[in-house]
Amino acid sequence: MTTVNLLEFDLDGLAAFCEKLGEKRFRATQLFRWIHQRGASDFAQMTDLAKSLREKLATTARVEALPVITQHESTDGTIKWLFDVGDGNAVEAVFIPEGDRGTLCVSSQAGCAVGCRFCSTGHQGFSRNLRTGEITAQLWFAEHFLRQHLKRDDRVISNVVMMGMGEPLQNYSALVPSLRTMLDDNAYGLSRRRVTVSTSGVVPMIDRLGADCPVALAVSLHAPNDPLRDDLVPLNRKYPIAELLEACQRYLAHAPRDFITFEYCMLDGVNDQPEHAQQLVELVRSTGISCKFNLIPFNPFPASGLLRSPQPRVLAFAKALSDAGIVTTVRKTRGDDIDAACGQLAGDVKDRTHAAERMAQRRTVVLHPVRATASKVSPAPPVTQGH
Ligand code: SF4
Repeated sequence: MTTVNLLEFDLDGLAAFCEKLGEKRFRATQLFRWIHQRGASDFAQMTDLAKSLREKLATTARVEALPVITQHESTDGTIKWLFDVGDGNAVEAVFIPEGDRGTLCVSSQAGCAVGCRFCSTGHQGFSRNLRTGEITAQLWFAEHFLRQHLKRDDRVISNVVMMGMGEPLQNYSALVPSLRTMLDDNAYGLSRRRVTVSTSGVVPMIDRLGADCPVALAVSLHAPNDPLRDDLVPLNRKYPIAELLEACQRYLAHAPRDFITFEYCMLDGVNDQPEHAQQLVELVRSTGISCKFNLIPFNPFPASGLLRSPQPRVLAFAKALSDAGIVTTVRKTRGDDIDAACGQLAGDVKDRTHAAERMAQRRTVVLHPVRATASKVSPAPPVTQGH
């Protein structure tokens, strides 16, 4: 008999499922807490649920993680997982600890259709959207695995960034229930300010997100003018910079933060010249948009034909923006020894030649969070970021 993976549901969805079983909403809330707050997947463990409900769940439902293909742990504490999503596809999630903050970078699609020039994921093409349960499963697994791995009882992941593989706003209907689960006090209880959706600029969906589930917004800008952005982020041909910034302005009316973060990947000789910084300053001044810039060192990969900007040029670019009154940060590289930036491990898997055999060979851990044991595998070569 086919069973339903309960990770597919936000609380309203789970309540509707329970209603079909003849159960009241408070039972769904109890179940939701067991799954997300305690990491339980065995209904027999859920001792405050009626035995009759546990028996019904055992025949109709399951709580199922994504199989882990590999797990890489960096010397700086960053951990990267490659998850099997079937048919030779894999997606990545990365945990980045920093002080009292623990950030999980989550994927929304297997591959990506946007095809940004500097992105390893984009070069792989698009396979399919992840389901809600596959997005939520990355957080469910990581949170409960990390609690055990780090021997902690309290919450480990304080921030989620939808900056892994894929364009989250091109998988909107699956994304929103997963975001709601992240925010729900009966699940992970994350602050809206600490859940960030990063988009390459799907303008209509920025408006919908503002109305349906406003969280922090990051926009992958990467260029100060349309001709250059058309080349680097092909979606710009559909939604040019002026339209994108207008959507950002509208979003600010709903956003939990009073600024938009603009991501800007620094590409040697392409978008990192003084005139590009000046154009960005003019863009921000002319639109008056409240924003901050995050400059990202590019991790080169052969198919891109692009190189990382030298550090002095990145710092000079940052200074030009800062001197103009724009809050600017330069992203630290984390987990370099494990290829923590997004794309290449999954890209390797996406090469479908004997994919199943190679994935079987690479499968180092297939874990249930509660019983998980860490497994280190040898570091992979450095690669580029995804979204
Ligand atoms: S940067 Fe983001 S939107 Fe662009 S190809 Fe990569 S995953 Fe897709």
